[in-house]
Formats: sequence, structure tokens, C-alpha cells
Amino acid sequence: MDDHSFDEQLIRAVGGDNTLVTFPTDATSIPSFNRDIPVLPKAIAVPQSVDQVAEIVKCAAAAGYKVQPRSGGHSYANHGYGGADGAIVVDLAKLQSLSIDTVTHNARIGAGARLGDIARFLYTKGRAMAHGTCPDVGLGGHATTGGMGPASRQWGLAIDQVVAMQVVLADGRVVHASHSDNEDLFFALRGAGPSFGIVTEFVMRTQPAPTQAVQYEFVCESTSPVARGAVFKAWQQLAGDSALPLELHTMVDIFEHKVVVSGTYFGSRVAFDALRLPARFPESQGVWKISDALDWMQLVDGWANHVLREFGGGMPRAFYAKSLSFAPRTLMSAHAVDALFHFLGTWSRTRGRLYLSFHVGGGAITDVPAGETAYPHRDTVFWGQFAVAGMGSVSASSKDFVSCMVSIITAAMPDGEFGAYAGHVDPSLASPQKEYWGLNLPQLRQIKAAVDPLDVFHNPQSVPVLEGPGARVVATEGDSSCVDKA
Ligand SMILES: Cc1cc2nc3c(=O)[nH]c(=O)nc-3n(C[C@H](O)[C@H](O)[C@H](O)COP(=O)(O)OP(=O)(O)OC[C@H]3O[C@@H](n4cnc5c(N)ncnc54)[C@H](O)[C@@H]3O)c2cc1C
Repeated sequence: MDDHSFDEQLIRAVGGDNTLVTFPTDATSIPSFNRDIPVLPKAIAVPQSVDQVAEIVKCAAAAGYKVQPRSGGHSYANHGYGGADGAIVVDLAKLQSLSIDTVTHNARIGAGARLGDIARFLYTKGRAMAHGTCPDVGLGGHATTGGMGPASRQWGLAIDQVVAMQVVLADGRVVHASHSDNEDLFFALRGAGPSFGIVTEFVMRTQPAPTQAVQYEFVCESTSPVARGAVFKAWQQLAGDSALPLELHTMVDIFEHKVVVSGTYFGSRVAFDALRLPARFPESQGVWKISDALDWMQLVDGWANHVLREFGGGMPRAFYAKSLSFAPRTLMSAHAVDALFHFLGTWSRTRGRLYLSFHVGGGAITDVPAGETAYPHRDTVFWGQFAVAGMGSVSASSKDFVSCMVSIITAAMPDGEFGAYAGHVDPSLASPQKEYWGLNLPQLRQIKAAVDPLDVFHNPQSVPVLEGPGARVVATEGDSSCVDKA
């Protein structure tokens, strides 16, 4: 098939409306989130219905193109654009429906919906859901890779809230996945979703919106490695405390001139004060700010402002980031913390903006067995993120600096004990699949062979196909009707 007839077929797949398909010719014209990673898709199609999603997939697969869905477009490595040149992108911007069942309180949410819009909608019904803090992130990429946020210690990850999914498979079939329907697929879609299909709609469990909470912040303005390291050590002890209440979320952000411990307590001010958090940190090193009586939407807006203030929010930029899971056996020794902060002291601001961020895990996230969903890092005590943001691009030496920070830490960890978060895509990983999916990888490869043997849903770090008989069976079923219809 020549390029021209393929382009025409793709337009037919979205009902013949040529305004719904673009064929970009220049990577810089694409509004990609990470400006450091130029990606040029073959085409970007914007379907208006699940049937159109299925037609696009059939059309692309028949012509041998790779396909990646895009929801909020916040992939760190532009995987929502395929992550490499030449993919067909299925942009779900028009699939953003929101409704709620008044009996079960389960929400039905179009995959293209953004976290901020979802939170606002649910709150009008007195409900809330566990998810991350950036309002511009799309549910499609969030609830298929993980989705951790301040309420996750109480309610779990976003993937743990999924009751059912409507999904388009590589052969264009539209199926449902849940505990009772296509269970293997349901397992795979909750943590490794982009390798398996395009989720077009989620049914999500919701919770009564919390009515009281406390926000706290401890700011240590210092460039001293010793002072900064002392705050981090105190925070690590807090995060690793097995008696930490589920209601307490805590994180620490590390910048060049300050260390900020912050978080949310989902409960009364009296209960928060009883935790005596300030006593756990070196008093002379910083200033506390504590505010109470916030409702859920104020919390959601507060988290969004934090992301905006400290990290520029969901605005595209050039950056390089690595993530690291810290499990009970791999917490940092005092020696490793000291080495890290001394190394950080050698960073020069002229090279770009450096930041580190650590978020507590545990609680309801850990209650889910590691083999229950594709996301394997259930024993993570806290996640670390190490990043540098530049203007137009990030230099190789800045990337090396970030890699060195991580190496200082992993050098002190038992071999092979560390993992990375598939929601914080890191294009530099040597074995990304192993780090993202760990012990769940063999099972994911088998499911991949059964549902996507031709590797239609591919990005540079997706689950690879396991060669085997499953491949032939589904390949036959998957013959596209798109060409026949043309
Ligand atoms: C500023 C910022 C803040 C963040 N904060 C948090 C946080 O607090 N907690 C957290 O856990 N993560 C956080 N993340 C990470 C975020 O959850 C992931 O990057 C997520 O994958 C983005 O989803 P998206 O739909 O916006 O991105 P996209 O680029 O659209 O998609 C990301 C990946 O998911 C795939 N995908 C998209 N839609 C679907 C679908 N419908 N079906 C199957 N696969 C799909 C894409 O193909 C791509 O591989 C943050 C990211 C940013 C940029």
C-alpha cells in the first residue's frame, strides 16, 4: 500500500473528517512534553468514538505501523507519541466523558480525561479518587502505568481503583477487562497498559471526599550538605517508620538551595498534632508552616500549585529524569546520604535546574500482592526521582550528573534490588522492562504473545513479544478489515 492510500484510509477510519488526522513533517511542531526527546509520528488521529479507535488500529496494523495511544501527553519520554519516529498516534482528546453511578459510586471515565477535571467532577458528587498531583496528566497514561498520589496510602494506586476497562486490542476487537472478564489482560493493563491495548473507558472505584485535612511544610533553606543531609535522614526515618499512619502522606523535595519536607494528613488538626512531626526534624534547620481544615478540592488545588511552583507544573520543557524504588532492604545508609549530598554540592546552577523528589509509598499500595497487577513495586517504602531541566535541551554532562547521583545510591544497594516506575519513563535504562515490571515480566510477555503477537502496541520500552504458538493464533484473528473496506 502506498503512503497516499494509507493516509486516505486513516482519514476514513475517523469518519472521513480530514481535520481529525494530521501528518506532521517536523518533530518541533509537535507539542511534546519532553522537549529533549524529539519524536516524529507518522500520523496523529483524533477519534471521536471507540469504533473509530478500533478502525484506526486495524488500519495501522494492516499497514505494519506501530500504534501508541495518547491521553494527557505527559509521558516523560513522549511515549504517548510512540517514543520513536513513525508511529500512528491515537489521541484520545475527544474521549473525556464523565459520569457516576449513584448506587455503586463507581465513575465511568473516558480515557482522555485529565486528573484535574476528574477530581472536580467527582467532587461535585461528594466523591474522590486516589491519583497523582498534576491536574494535566491524563487518566489513560496514569491508570495504565501506576498512579500514586497523596491518598494512595489509604486507597491505593490509581490502577488499584480500576473496576473495569473497555479496551481496543491490536486486532481491532473491542473487549472488556475486569476480574471476571479477560483477567490476564486486566492484570497486564494495570501497570503495563501501553504494551497491550488502548483503554478507551475506565470504570473507577471512588471514595467519599475527605472533609478535613492538614497540610504541612518544613522548609530548610541551606546549601550545607550536612544540614541538608540531616533533614533527609530524618525524613527517611519518618517514611520508613512501620507505625506511620495511613492518613499521613509525606514527601521531600531537594533543590539547590533548600530542602522541603511537605505532605498532607487526612484527619483533624488534633490528631495531626499528636503525631508530633516537628519533633522528628532538626528544629534549628528550618521553618514549619501548618494549615488545617482544608476540603478535598482545596487539597487537589494545593497539590497542583505545589507542582506548578516547584516544577513548573505540566508545562512542556526539556528534562532528564530517573526514578528509583526504595524497599525496606534498600533504604539509604547514613554514608550513602552523606555521599549524595556532598555530590549534590558540586552542581553548578548554570548547567540547568536540578531537583530530587522522594514520595512515601506503603499502606494500601503494599496491601495488594505484587502479582495482582503488572505494577510489581508493592514493597516500595518511598520513590525517588532525580531530574535536571534545561532550556532547549539537556547536555550529556548534566545527564551524567543525574546518573551519577543514582549510581551513588544503587552502589550501596544489594545487586538487582532496585526498580524504576513505568509512569516515569527513563529512556536511558539498560533493562527497562526488568526495572519497570520485575518478576511480572515473564507473565506479561506471555500475555503479549496472546493479545498482540505482532507488537502493534510498541514503544521503545514496551513489553516484548514472547515467540510462541499464541502469536500465530491471534495474528490470524487480527487480519485487518480496513484494507478490504478501502
Ligand atoms: C508534571 C507531572 C507530574 C506527575 N505527577 C505524577 C504523580 O503525582 N503520580 C504519578 O504516579 N505519576 C505522575 N506523573 C507521571 C504520569 O502519571 C505519567 O507520565 C503518565 O503516564 C502520563 O499519562 P498521560 O496520559 O498524561 O500521558 P501520555 O503521554 O498520553 O501517555 C503516557 C503513556 O501511556 C500510554 N497511554 C496513554 N493513554 C493510554 C490509554 N488510554 N490506554 C493505554 N495506554 C495509554 C501512552 O501510549 C504512553 O505510553 C507525572 C507526570 C508529570 C509530567
